Amino acid sequence: MALPELLIDRFKLKHNIGTLLKLAATQNIQIHFVTKCLCAWRPVVEAIHEAGAEYFADSRVENLATIQDLGLSRMLVRIPMISQAMDTVRYADLSLNSDLTVIESLSDAALALDCKHGVILMVEMGDLREGFLPEEVLDIASRVLNLRGVWLAGIGANFNCYGGVIPEERQLEELVLLAGAIRERFAIPLPIVSGGNSGSLYLLKEGRMPTGITHLRVGEGFLTGIETSYRRSIGDMYEDVFTLRAEIVELRRKPSVPQGKIGPNSFNEIPVFEDQGNLWRAILAIGEQDTRCDTLSPKEARIGFLGASSDHMILDVTLALRDFKVGDVLEFSPDYAALLRAMTSPYVTKKLI
Ligand SMILES: *Cc1c(COP(=O)(O)O)cnc(C)c1O
Repeated sequence: MALPELLIDRFKLKHNIGTLLKLAATQNIQIHFVTKCLCAWRPVVEAIHEAGAEYFADSRVENLATIQDLGLSRMLVRIPMISQAMDTVRYADLSLNSDLTVIESLSDAALALDCKHGVILMVEMGDLREGFLPEEVLDIASRVLNLRGVWLAGIGANFNCYGGVIPEERQLEELVLLAGAIRERFAIPLPIVSGGNSGSLYLLKEGRMPTGITHLRVGEGFLTGIETSYRRSIGDMYEDVFTLRAEIVELRRKPSVPQGKIGPNSFNEIPVFEDQGNLWRAILAIGEQDTRCDTLSPKEARIGFLGASSDHMILDVTLALRDFKVGDVLEFSPDYAALLRAMTSPYVTKKLI
């Protein structure tokens, strides 16, 4: 047993996939399952595939390269780098795009590899991350249609990221109108109208997804069971697919306020302390190299977070309901940020159970 470890519950994960597929099917939405938070770790992607998912997406070409044989489609959701145009075309059949020179490079790469790559034009709808301005899109579409290595598969928008903008019917209806204008002007099918990420799932759940949105790119939703616009439960999903486990290496009663002249802590911040008297403090062998510590939720009640450095997390267990001892293992539910770092950390053992 190598700790810390991240346990992934296969049954619960597959249940969540099934729920999402059913929900999407009721409103004729196709979903690309985003695996970036899982580093597209094969055993998990295989489980997702077994649960019925056929379309996968990731932000890294390297991740897509490892799941080439799984499912029917692999989409790159980060704007491709020109320096990676060849591998993008090799490992992704679709990519999200917001730059014409990048699309030209993809077309050249596809011609060199004797294939055709599907391009989705991202449209800026307020969140201010990637996307062409809406007024540019018709002109860009006509240029893309002149490139021989790519085909225009759709348009899409992203929300809930840089600006925290919540997707609402208004923006999505504008996207649908824009798709209609492209279809009409160029007489093409334009099958994909991609209405966002897990932040759009509340619209699906409430039956408010505008007609004409045909596609979503979902990562966090099926992992945590939460939509990311209002952070509410999606429903009929497990919210505890993942469990992070770490071991106590010191347990001692110490004052709550450090003694001595206070300077920067390990992350160059000047810490501030409130005097709570003496506390029972547990030091766990897990730190910022393994996960994001301050957002972990302990599975046991009445445990407080005191601080963390690269390799140590300090918890207040004064009021905990049982007596701990050194060597005991504590369990936590990671949120998306903690999960992302745990999956990418080589120090965390991953187990699909
Ligand atoms: C990460 C990402 C997604 C998936 O987002 P979730 O919030 O995990 O559902 C979708 N689209 C793009 C462009 C992304 O980068």
